[in-house]
Amino acid sequence: MEKWDVIIIGAGHAGCEAAAASARVGVKTLLLTHRLDTIGEMSCNPAIGGLGKGHLVREIDALDGIMARAIDMSGIQFRMLNLSKGPAVRGPRSQADRKLYKQAIQHLLSEQDNLTIKAAAVEDMQIDNGEISAIITADGSIYKTNKVILTTGTFLRGLIHLGEKRSPAGRVGDDASYGLAKTLSKLNFNLGRLKTGTPPRLDGNTIDYSKLEEQFSDSNPIPFSYMTDKITVPQISCHITFTNEIGHKIISDNLHRSAVYSGQIEGTGPRYCPSIEDKIVKFADKTQHQIFLEPEGLDNTTVYPNGISTSMPEDVQASFVKTIVGLENVKILQPGYAIEYDYIDPRELNICLETKKVKGLYFAGQINGTTGYEEAAAQGLMAGINAAISIDNKDKFILDRADAYIGVLIDDLITRGIDEPYRMFTSRAEYRLRLRSDNADQRLTPLGLRVGCLSQKRMKAWQNKEEALIAARKMARQLTATPNELKKYGLKINQDGVKRDILDLLSLVNINLKDLYGLWPELKSIKPDIEEQLKIDASYKGYIERQDNDIKAFRRDEKLYLADNLDYSLIGGLSKEMKQKLLQIKPATLGAASRISGVTPAALVAILRFVKRRKK
Ligand code: FAD
Repeated sequence: MEKWDVIIIGAGHAGCEAAAASARVGVKTLLLTHRLDTIGEMSCNPAIGGLGKGHLVREIDALDGIMARAIDMSGIQFRMLNLSKGPAVRGPRSQADRKLYKQAIQHLLSEQDNLTIKAAAVEDMQIDNGEISAIITADGSIYKTNKVILTTGTFLRGLIHLGEKRSPAGRVGDDASYGLAKTLSKLNFNLGRLKTGTPPRLDGNTIDYSKLEEQFSDSNPIPFSYMTDKITVPQISCHITFTNEIGHKIISDNLHRSAVYSGQIEGTGPRYCPSIEDKIVKFADKTQHQIFLEPEGLDNTTVYPNGISTSMPEDVQASFVKTIVGLENVKILQPGYAIEYDYIDPRELNICLETKKVKGLYFAGQINGTTGYEEAAAQGLMAGINAAISIDNKDKFILDRADAYIGVLIDDLITRGIDEPYRMFTSRAEYRLRLRSDNADQRLTPLGLRVGCLSQKRMKAWQNKEEALIAARKMARQLTATPNELKKYGLKINQDGVKRDILDLLSLVNINLKDLYGLWPELKSIKPDIEEQLKIDASYKGYIERQDNDIKAFRRDEKLYLADNLDYSLIGGLSKEMKQKLLQIKPATLGAASRISGVTPAALVAILRFVKRRKK
């Protein structure tokens, strides 16, 4: 029987990245998913990126993942969020043409060597001596492998709620997954229940846009991928409208019929993406809530009303949306709904996203309690790389909290666990000045090179950019001028007689590279992306240096590795509860132990002493 190096179950955002990454590393990879036509499906909003999430997409791209290139091929409204704020918190976002996005993902996967894709529903797994050995599909086929990445999203015991109605499904139109949920329960994985929701889809032809504020795309869309030169997809507008008190009353009067408030749903929903019924109950003093009317495609009139996800019955949804300005005559194409599903406590995973219970079994994506395409894709990428490199027993590929948002995401999940769907925000990262969306390639592409997950094309492109950056930084240090010389070119700076180099000059708020072209025409050869790096290097030099010192201190603790089999019950000075937690989570480092809730500084000292004594 044929044996596969790595098998990925599920071709959502986590599964597609995992499959592509494993295949890029060069191992024989099989991707099994329910349906080939839904590969890369956006289950909810047709958009990629945003604050924190945009950083993740750039980082995935820096490691040669596919999400950024796919959105560049399908984005219909690019906007750089927080453009007026510092570079650390800027977030690229784009609305997607749903159909083009799926096509782009399917195209990129079809071009990938070492990857086979098949339609199949996986029902069970075989485990021998604590290690995964095969998976079994619904038609009884057995696929042999010692590495499986499970990325089943919202499908494990998925249950859709629409008002009083309930129906089993992984998302609308797709069957739920029961066999695997049973297998995971049998293996004693700690499963929980979460919920998420989606708004009704509207017929754009029945919306009166004349009454609404238009939101344009950026005039010069900035691609997500370092490999994309220019966005060529036509850009279109979104529109903005608001709920009002009449609509709020309809929802309040019918709360007893809502799946959430009738007590029908047990799972916890995303705090940062609440349903409209949640908003009306929790923010009762607000008389309106903003809604973005987002087109789902260039040749598709469906509109996604971002901000009113709901599980109210269909008749309530219909009355409610018609109270909204611009939507008075709107036709609902598909009602909103909520979905409840099983997730696995991510503290069951090690830093590679491999389960601690079953060797060779990895989980990535929404199954780990996260929400969002980007969080799913980032986990898929890391699980894919780690599963593939573990075949040759190479060192684990680990990103820490100072390397990447991906590191923050994984560390948060595996050390703290979740009690609500986890979403990335810039505020979750300690080292934001380093972890910018503009420098993800400088932070991560060299690491990707070492681990072997980059295509030749990416390697070449990065080497060219790196050389250009080194040359520009050298030039910026070598070219100097006095205030007097600068004055001749219309540049007014403090007349203190001190010679300044280009980085000193760029650190001044009112000076950009093009202001220096008159004095140094050779600067015209510097490309805009390199210029942006020079300006940021110059403007934030002091702050970045300070942050780098903090990172050094952080990494000292991160270097103190704690063995997987460390017996915390033998360490004096730890409470029973703390011992239990540490034995369950098995933190990889002393730094990770310090981030577990309830672990005190005194406990850390006790652990450190114990480990040092053992080493002697
Ligand atoms: P998915 O994209 O769900 O992909 C899972 C894949 O696994 C599918 O291809 C499925 O066919 C396959 N699969 C499952 N079981 C099996 C099996 N047994 N055998 C073979 N294949 C299998 N995110 C937000 O950020 N904001 C939101 O507001 C939001 N709302 C949502 C509303 C709804 C109704 C849904 C369904 C999702 C919502 N999401 C939202 C979440 C977002 O869709 C997910 O975070 C993201 O798609 C997760 O990606 P994933 O790869 O983990 O799983």
